Amino acid sequence: MKKAHKAGFVSIVGKPNVGKSTLMNRLVGENLSIISPKAQTTRHRIMGMLNTDDYQIVYSDTPGILEPRYALHEAMMNYVKVSLQDADVILLVIEYGEKFDQAVHERFKSIAAPILLLVNKVDKLPGADRHEITEYWSQGLPAIKILPVSAMSGENVDAILPALLDLLPVHPPYFPKDDLTNRSERFFAAEIIREKVFTNYSQEIPYSTEVGIEDFKDEEKILRIRATLFVERDSQKGILIGKGGAALKKVGTEARTDMEQFFGKKVFLETHVKVAADWRKQKEKLRLFGYLE
Ligand code: GDP
Ligand code: MG
Repeated sequence: MKKAHKAGFVSIVGKPNVGKSTLMNRLVGENLSIISPKAQTTRHRIMGMLNTDDYQIVYSDTPGILEPRYALHEAMMNYVKVSLQDADVILLVIEYGEKFDQAVHERFKSIAAPILLLVNKVDKLPGADRHEITEYWSQGLPAIKILPVSAMSGENVDAILPALLDLLPVHPPYFPKDDLTNRSERFFAAEIIREKVFTNYSQEIPYSTEVGIEDFKDEEKILRIRATLFVERDSQKGILIGKGGAALKKVGTEARTDMEQFFGKKVFLETHVKVAADWRKQKEKLRLFGYLE
């Protein structure tokens, strides 16, 4: 007899920088989510789907849980909230050495969906006492299972899928089986540029930059992409562009290389810089940038 089809939403949540996006990419086998050593790299809910004949898992990568300081943060935390409401299973990610944080973890004590707790970055301390970690977290949270993993090295990541499938309901697929994500090609083009801003600049620049895709022309042999990088103040424009345009050129080159890999096609990328004053605080601008309904 054929097995009943399973499908469900699996939300990847946790503090900033614990490795949620690295994990999501590994689970779906594609670089859908951008990654950087800085907190708050992910600003959206990004779905990544894993499809087989027997199941459809719809993973959601989410921004790290934080205390909102800007209207942008409020929008980000709303993505987390909705992802938790939708979840059939929650993948709560903590990093090795992290302690229970009331402001972040308390909410998971009374959540309806089953929780798989992933203790990530165990590659950092190979000799660590995993039993002790499991013991500590099993007392703090009602997790169905606690798995030590390394999203970066891949260690024990294989144990996640069977644990998830046990918890997923029997359900027909939610999306066409050849879908990989809910996001558009334009979105990924913008995210790839944003990742390069996160990895090439320090201090406020990554947080003050938003990327808009003005033009996305898929021609036979080449993708022509025109992007605008928005910063909050005039002074940031100069920093982003750099001496003689060198800094922005580096961002453009790195982004183009990744885009060619991602889209499997030659890319021509043109970038411009503009000021969108205080965009992180302004609902109107956030709406334009796609953060609000
Ligand atoms: P997110 O903010 O939770 O989405 O975290 P990211 O996936 O962006 O990762 C944040 C940082 O942690 C990046 O520098 C990653 O390379 C790093 N990282 C993620 N997973 C691991 C892991 O398993 N081990 C180690 N050592 N670093 C990791
Ligand atoms: Mg992330």
